[in-house]
Amino acid sequence: MQLNNPELLKNASFINGQWLTSETVFEVENPANGQIVGTVSEVTPGQLEMAVNSAYAACEVWQSKTVDERAVILKSWNDLIRDNQQDLAQIMTAEQGKPIHEAIGEVAYGASYIEWYAEEGRRIKGSVLPNNQQGRRALVQQTPVGVVSAITPWNFPGAMLLRKASAALAAGCTFIVKPSELTPFSALALAELSLQAGIPPGVFNVVIGSNAQPIGEVLTLHPKVAKFSFTGSTAVGKKLLSQCASTVKKTSMELGGNAPFIIFEDADIDKALDGLMRSKFRNAGQTCVSANRIFVHQSLHDELVERLRLMVSELTIGDGQDETTQIGPLINLKAVEKVEKLVAQAVTSGAKLVLGGEKIKNSGYFYQPTILTGVKPFMDIFNQEIFAPVASIIAFEQEDQVIQLANQTNYGLCSYAYTNNANRIWRLSEKLAFGMVGINEGVLSNALAPFGGIKESGMGREGGHWGIEEYLETRYVCIGNVE
Ligand code: ADP
Repeated sequence: MQLNNPELLKNASFINGQWLTSETVFEVENPANGQIVGTVSEVTPGQLEMAVNSAYAACEVWQSKTVDERAVILKSWNDLIRDNQQDLAQIMTAEQGKPIHEAIGEVAYGASYIEWYAEEGRRIKGSVLPNNQQGRRALVQQTPVGVVSAITPWNFPGAMLLRKASAALAAGCTFIVKPSELTPFSALALAELSLQAGIPPGVFNVVIGSNAQPIGEVLTLHPKVAKFSFTGSTAVGKKLLSQCASTVKKTSMELGGNAPFIIFEDADIDKALDGLMRSKFRNAGQTCVSANRIFVHQSLHDELVERLRLMVSELTIGDGQDETTQIGPLINLKAVEKVEKLVAQAVTSGAKLVLGGEKIKNSGYFYQPTILTGVKPFMDIFNQEIFAPVASIIAFEQEDQVIQLANQTNYGLCSYAYTNNANRIWRLSEKLAFGMVGINEGVLSNALAPFGGIKESGMGREGGHWGIEEYLETRYVCIGNVE
């Protein structure tokens, strides 16, 4: 990696404003070529305890600042991230594999949350209630929850962290994050910039380890941690949620998805294809809001499949560092094996392979962009998160039928529909059982809007004023006997 600022490449946990190494290290691999990006120290149990204690102590320092002071520091972090956008993107692509232009976009997207929450911190408001008894006054305050711990995934190593940390810090909380062991360097680079921005020691901490479970236990069981925020799989989320129950922590859970992408007979097919390409193939399909089940009206099916086949067959696959790459590798061998199994099972059960369907034989973890038609609800590929560049297509005829099929999942994160019928748009916005509904739009997320799911896709929202409320407590103060 040729970084303009090599200082950004750190190899140890960042705790209380210091870089803490240990005797044990682990390697981080580049999924595009199997080469080692670097080694990182494993956090020790003592360092983890120190992280919690310093975040706890730093609450006083951070909360004693005025909202304006906090906003200035957060804005400086945002500026530094934007100044170092290219380097941060290079680090991200090296450890995660996504095309460099997507990594550049992710850095800006992540920073946009800091920019937005730096301002939103100024708009945290309490209230004064009307008196309902003589001599009494009632106030409602919005106070920071305290120490927030978080665990973030590898698919958006920068943005998932910043979506949480920006809102938590703006609310006056302190923060400890464990990024994925597959992508620790992006988080550590953000920590270096937090230091340069003047975020006080202990306010923002990053703990690194290859064994997630014991670290997760400290972050979810420790009595000094008030709130836990997770982005990752539903299976791990359920486990961590139950761990949080022992100390009744507040929690936010951004878990898996199984997004339907419905193209009705009256859709603008060009726009639908454009939205589908972005929703399905961004990050090689490794996003929790990727189109997972593509429902196409019978009357458009053959035309759409053919046009999609032409577009997908032109995608440039390769190392994300190459500017022309549109599809990078999957994150690791396990991910390739998972998609191989899903596709094989679908094909043996009657789905038709229109394009792709093979692992690419090179030193990275590449899987061909793939199109399957004739997918049925009993197939695993209909029910599981694919997390790979596989477009799984189902033909339908009736609106009621497709809504019922779209909702036939325990997940409820994101959904998409393309139609030009205004009445249908209203019906879909009310009947699709998902936390997010994109109508004639394939990429929805931004700092102003509430991102999050219902059902087993989780609870809580990131973005907008909903996002900061996750880090605030409501306190009722009743003052009696006022004369
Ligand atoms: P994915 O399937 O997308 O890799 P995971 O839920 O496995 O999602 O991982 C998301 C995050 O959760 C990562 O930071 C990972 O290290 C962490 N994680 C995985 N298993 C556990 C666990 N048992 N306890 C705590 N954290 C975990």
